[in-house]
Amino acid sequence: MLVASASPAVGSPCLRRSPGRGRGRGGARFGMTAARSLSVSVVPILKKLQRECATPLPVLRHVADAMAADMRAGLAADGGSDLKMILSYVDSLPRGNEKGLFYALDLGGTNFRVLRVQLGGEEDRVVATEFDQVTIPQELMFGTSEKLFDFIASGLGKFSNKEGGKFHLPPGRKREIGFTFSFPVKQISIDSGILIKWTKGFAVSGTAGKDVVACLNEAMERRGLDMRVSALVNDTVATLAGARYWDNDVMVAVILGTGTNACYVERTDAIPKLDGHVSTSGRTIINTEWGAFSNGLPLTEFDREMDAASINPGEQIYEKTISGMYLGEIVRRALVKMAVEGALFGKSIPHKLLTPFLLRTPDLCAMQKDESDDLQKVGSVLYDVAGVESNLGARKVVVEVCDTITKRGGRLAGAGIVGILQKMEEDSKGLIFGKRTVVAMDGGLYEKYSQYRGYMHGAVTELLGTELSRNLVIEHSKDGSGIGAALLAAANSNYEHDF
Ligand code: ADP
Ligand code: MG
Repeated sequence: MLVASASPAVGSPCLRRSPGRGRGRGGARFGMTAARSLSVSVVPILKKLQRECATPLPVLRHVADAMAADMRAGLAADGGSDLKMILSYVDSLPRGNEKGLFYALDLGGTNFRVLRVQLGGEEDRVVATEFDQVTIPQELMFGTSEKLFDFIASGLGKFSNKEGGKFHLPPGRKREIGFTFSFPVKQISIDSGILIKWTKGFAVSGTAGKDVVACLNEAMERRGLDMRVSALVNDTVATLAGARYWDNDVMVAVILGTGTNACYVERTDAIPKLDGHVSTSGRTIINTEWGAFSNGLPLTEFDREMDAASINPGEQIYEKTISGMYLGEIVRRALVKMAVEGALFGKSIPHKLLTPFLLRTPDLCAMQKDESDDLQKVGSVLYDVAGVESNLGARKVVVEVCDTITKRGGRLAGAGIVGILQKMEEDSKGLIFGKRTVVAMDGGLYEKYSQYRGYMHGAVTELLGTELSRNLVIEHSKDGSGIGAALLAAANSNYEHDF
């Protein structure tokens, strides 16, 4: 078996298969013999993959039940489960009367966004917004903490300099920021938290174990930027807050982007580990950090190899199975095996295809959108991305592999959502299934990959049945997290709200 994480063979454009397996091809097209030998050797690999990735109802049910049980164990004690169930210190959700100018800063897995919003209170709501987005340079993901936070402070500084006439800050006040930080943080208060570890491919040195707000404050000081972080929130928490601003029935928020996570509104009396923390509302938002879930997931050799080669082996297994950073890589690994052992792309193994993370989830999405008879788009993605020339038979197999991995991911995400709802309903009968309940969704994967989204919704309905699903609304909260973070900054402002 080929370990596909190995770096590509140096000095040769192709890795040759062992002789005698399958039939080769000379040019871009397969002959009939080659097509036949392709199906003979590739199909068993495809069938095995589909078998191992299958998510029939009992598997979904197990995942939902295990998610609910892991949530409970994580609420009982720190370290009690794979799920950290982190207290967000967000005890009151936006009410709609928030007023003033606030900034939001969002460090995701791929992008870094800055936003300002002028809130006009009950009547006027969101008066004006402006935002800017920058892709995080690859080298910063592997650099030092100082460099990363300098980059963030610099982006924030440039953006705040361009504040136009629609935005008003009363004299003598600092600009306040809601800082959305989409990595696991042990929250100490609403405006401070210690980074537990980097995820989603980040390996920045010198941040783990430190307060990320202090890191940002130091970088802002280095640049003479006089702003204040008044709320540090996870992206799921910001999404929940943003969606709740418009709709009181929002109880859960889920992110499916580069990585994945979920949060929900919990009763404080259902949190044994709360330990003295008082919430006047009797409720608080719990950041589940569900990406670390691992119980009973249907995994394949490709998942195990990808995990072993990752910078965080053994961790974030659910995230590695369902989120955008990894779906393309799982597919690539399966295709490499099919190319090596089944001559999927003919006699020689395309050298480029051996590059880890070459195939990205948006590529899968583009290929699955192809409805042409000759799967021309699939052919061009394979060629453009991996330098692979393919015939129709091979393209069909590639689409099947994409669909298998996407279906498993989407359906397992759906099971996770049902797990959260189940846990909430168990504690307060009728709270979830007895009335309209909204799950706010965000993230590039959910937003852009319609097949994935369809599989996710399908699994939720399958698990809940049509009756219970009727009260459940799963909706996209577009850009909700930016506004949400600004709203939480407003709620925790140092200043009075009487402007
Ligand atoms: P982040 O997770 O960095 O906050 P996003 O929520 O925008 O950012 O998600 C970006 C991720 O969404 C990408 O890493 C990719 O996996 C996924 N994605 C983006 N575009 C598409 C697409 N067209 N099809 C499928 N997935 C996509
Ligand atoms: Mg994000």
